[in-house]
Amino acid sequence: MLSRADLWPKRLSNAAAQRQAGGGWRQRSLLSEDDACIDFAGNDYLGLADDPRLVEAQAAAARRFGAGAKASHLVSGHLDIHERLERRLAALTGRPRALLFSTGYMANLGTLQALCDRHTSVFQDRLNHASLIDGARLAGAPSRRFHHRDLTNLERLLARAPNDAPALVVSDGVFSMDGDTADIAGLASTCRHQGAWLMIDDAHGLGVLGAHGDGCVGRAHGVDEVPILVGTLGKALGSAGAFVAGDAALIDHLIQFARPYIYTTAQPPGVAAATLAALDILEDEPERRIQLFERIARFRREAATLGLPLADSRTPIQPIVLGANARVMRWAERLARAGLRVGAIRAPTVPRGQARLRITLSAAHDDDALNALLDGLAACQREEVT
Ligand SMILES: *Cc1c(COP(=O)(O)O)cnc(C)c1O
Repeated sequence: MLSRADLWPKRLSNAAAQRQAGGGWRQRSLLSEDDACIDFAGNDYLGLADDPRLVEAQAAAARRFGAGAKASHLVSGHLDIHERLERRLAALTGRPRALLFSTGYMANLGTLQALCDRHTSVFQDRLNHASLIDGARLAGAPSRRFHHRDLTNLERLLARAPNDAPALVVSDGVFSMDGDTADIAGLASTCRHQGAWLMIDDAHGLGVLGAHGDGCVGRAHGVDEVPILVGTLGKALGSAGAFVAGDAALIDHLIQFARPYIYTTAQPPGVAAATLAALDILEDEPERRIQLFERIARFRREAATLGLPLADSRTPIQPIVLGANARVMRWAERLARAGLRVGAIRAPTVPRGQARLRITLSAAHDDDALNALLDGLAACQREEVT
């Protein structure tokens, strides 16, 4: 019999063997400073992460206020620059208030944990981001999953839920592995009809979609339609962190009860300064979004001509679903040899049998970059058939 001390190594080696067996072993690829790959894997949709104005704003704020915030928001870490950023984010999204979190993962955990308990009915789109699923778990609230973008299915589930418990519907705005978007007006109308609140995580829509880069919710869908809006700052806005936007009662509730907000150090002031610089650029340079959508249109047109299995996505996330893990790894490695980095996404991040290349486009990609990507994909296809 194994001694208790042997149980831990056994547990780890069993888990490793299981993951390796399915071809799902995950590895980080180390990026060196002189990495010359063209990146089609990141989420820097507007090319802001490397913008000298963000970098300089970050450095200047660090020189002035220090490298770190030194404490949590409720102790002594809530700085004027955080307050200004919260106001800007509230204005951008057309909401009365906004609350900064250190990451999007924590914003989702904190919001769901503060709002829900085991008596709350939570309804989540099947393809929602892991952090939304984990947030309901942290709250001890059972999540019911509705079919992807299926309002009829959602309506049925809501109608069956107990009338004496608050109901919350949760969805990604832009689905992170598929690139398609939620029907915000449809969700809002179903929620109104059923007396449920709606929470949208617009991590991939903010900065990209909407008339002002205000996302797929933004000013077009106010707090009456979407009372809880989450946005992240590490994607199109090129910095880091996240926020929740809504009315004063919601934000006050989060400040009181969201443990992932309360028990963590405030984001470094430099990060807030970089985000403020990104918001200026978002406002002053709408041509970046125009460029991005031109790239997306060109990619889709030419990839369709090649006969690649495109998804129904009008966003910078352009997955190519290839099915088997091994096939995805083969294509990704072939592209890497051509100097192109794309995401190779396997289960459990996506459903089994739907492994895919997750290609992301950016305003920073020029025509040559796109040519190289399309040539690389064509080469993968050719090698497949021979
Ligand atoms: C990336 C992402 C998050 C997490 O945001 P971080 O700031 O990276 O922690 C949350 N939700 C969705 C849909 C995401 O794509």
